[in-house]
Amino acid sequence: PSREAAATVTRSFRAIAEMLDAEADELGRIDRIAGDGDHGIGMHRGSRAAADAAQRAADRGAGARTVLQWAADAWSDAGGGTSGAIWGEMLVALGDSLGDDRAVDAGTVADGVLRMKDAVMSFGKAQRGDKTMVDAIVPFADRLAQRVQAGDRLLDAWTDAAEEATRAAEATASMTARLGRARSHGDRSLGTPDPGAVSFALVTRTVLDILKG
Ligand code: ADP
Ligand code: MG
Ligand code: MG
Repeated sequence: PSREAAATVTRSFRAIAEMLDAEADELGRIDRIAGDGDHGIGMHRGSRAAADAAQRAADRGAGARTVLQWAADAWSDAGGGTSGAIWGEMLVALGDSLGDDRAVDAGTVADGVLRMKDAVMSFGKAQRGDKTMVDAIVPFADRLAQRVQAGDRLLDAWTDAAEEATRAAEATASMTARLGRARSHGDRSLGTPDPGAVSFALVTRTVLDILKG
């Protein structure tokens, strides 16, 4: 199996869980303004369970796809809510691209991230501008693919894409929610970014730290 990719994925989950432990209160605060306030706790629980499951799979010698499948199941079970289900879908899609036995390169990763984007959009039916995490993942995935296709190495492409995701997540503050729980609260979300977009951008920056080694 692709042990090197599996090890990078497992390290990433551990770092993501630690980051979300620290950010949970702030994500909850943002979700409370126009949603139900559980985004921080959900993301923290989901990522912690995913990190534990990834470790168990990696300890058994699993490849990246299997590690991501175990993590996906754990995240959606323990995280709950819309975001738990969506993160589960995204991680399975990424695993399908990375595979258990293939050598993973920048092209494989960029392709996997494009599949993550497709998974979110077909699962949740949100489009850009609906004020969801789609508003962060679309620019992230597209920029990553663009830069890799132009010949950048993964670290440079990911650096640029993570900056783009961060800007895009901040820009959701000027949008009004049209989907999900936030919709019923209408304009109350104006001036506050979408919690799922913010947490997605935070995850991309945490993975960047892992890629930097
Ligand atoms: P819940 O809304 O069930 O309480 P969370 O609070 O954990 O779940 O997650 C809320 C986030 O989920 C939102 O900020 C948004 O980014 C994302 N989200 C909600 N609905 C959709 C959707 N249809 N497509 C994509 N993302 C969505
Ligand atoms: Mg919520
Ligand atoms: Mg909820």
